[in-house]
Amino acid sequence: MNTPKILEVIDLKKHFPIRGGLFGTTQGYVYAVDGVSFHIHKGETLSLVGESGCGKSTVGKAVLRLFPLTGGQVILDGTRIDDMSAGTLRPLRRKIQVVFQDPFSSLNPRMKVRDILAEPIRNFGLARDAADLERRIGDLMDKVRLPRDAVNRWPHEFSGGQRQRIGIARALAAEPELIVCDEAVSALDVSVKAQIVNLLQDLQQELGLALLFISHDLAIVEHMTHRVAVMYLGKIVEIADKRSLFAAPRHPYTEALLSAVPVPDPTVKRERIILKGDVPSPIRPPPGCRFHTRCPYAMERCRREEPELRPDASGHLAACHLHDLPPAENPLLNHRPPTAFRAGAPA
Ligand code: SF4
Repeated sequence: MNTPKILEVIDLKKHFPIRGGLFGTTQGYVYAVDGVSFHIHKGETLSLVGESGCGKSTVGKAVLRLFPLTGGQVILDGTRIDDMSAGTLRPLRRKIQVVFQDPFSSLNPRMKVRDILAEPIRNFGLARDAADLERRIGDLMDKVRLPRDAVNRWPHEFSGGQRQRIGIARALAAEPELIVCDEAVSALDVSVKAQIVNLLQDLQQELGLALLFISHDLAIVEHMTHRVAVMYLGKIVEIADKRSLFAAPRHPYTEALLSAVPVPDPTVKRERIILKGDVPSPIRPPPGCRFHTRCPYAMERCRREEPELRPDASGHLAACHLHDLPPAENPLLNHRPPTAFRAGAPA
């Protein structure tokens, strides 16, 4: 992408203290996010994927400044925001909005839809007068394809998918440039999920929005993203353009995740890679490569030396020592399961 960056995250760390004992002293830390860097261009979708507990939602919340960082920087549209006071940050908050996973709990049950949508418009002083406020609310209902007269209803009168549309309208009310979608379709039925994904894509086209799409569902991600960042135990292990990542993953964890994604073509056979063991505790991450306790290709070096996230010639980034081997000895290049081929996936 040649457009400027709307978001840049540099070496982000979030360690949550574990308190205990008689005096509530710090006994250790949960290393939820431990040095994560990425960027998103204006109008681009970057998906952050990984198993539950890998730290992807913590990244989303850190970007939204919902808590202070342990380390690193968050730069929004060229301005560093992680060290700003709440007052200085306030006008910039308009540029970054969020859609949460659970449309039931994220909407105030005591507010009608009109008031839910009016709140951010008023907070950011976007409406000239009462008529402009009403016009904006009507436009938002049109954008998310809900009837205008539904503004007089309460959140409980809507289905899950309709509530998520209201959540999207509320995010759009602030006229943002970036929306963090935190598992925004995970709680929805399959058919409703597809409708909401299509709506997000249409809105992105129409409004030039950037999306940070946080999800554990690679099948959904494949249909709506430009680039993908894969997280494992608080670190990004691979970042690439969607086509490159789905066609030729360069990290064994990504390869395993992709092997579980259904292929639409029944003639394509896939070898499912079952990872052994559980994800280690983020309180005591393993030394060396954090994935070495489950990696089918782990070598001696992996147990002691942490791999860096490095690009190949095309800019596809991966953190894996296998890429230091001669290509003929790299199992990722020679043992590619047919899974990785994603015929028919949109560009
Ligand atoms: Fe597996 Fe070693 Fe690569 Fe880590 S560095 S993913 S353990 S091969």
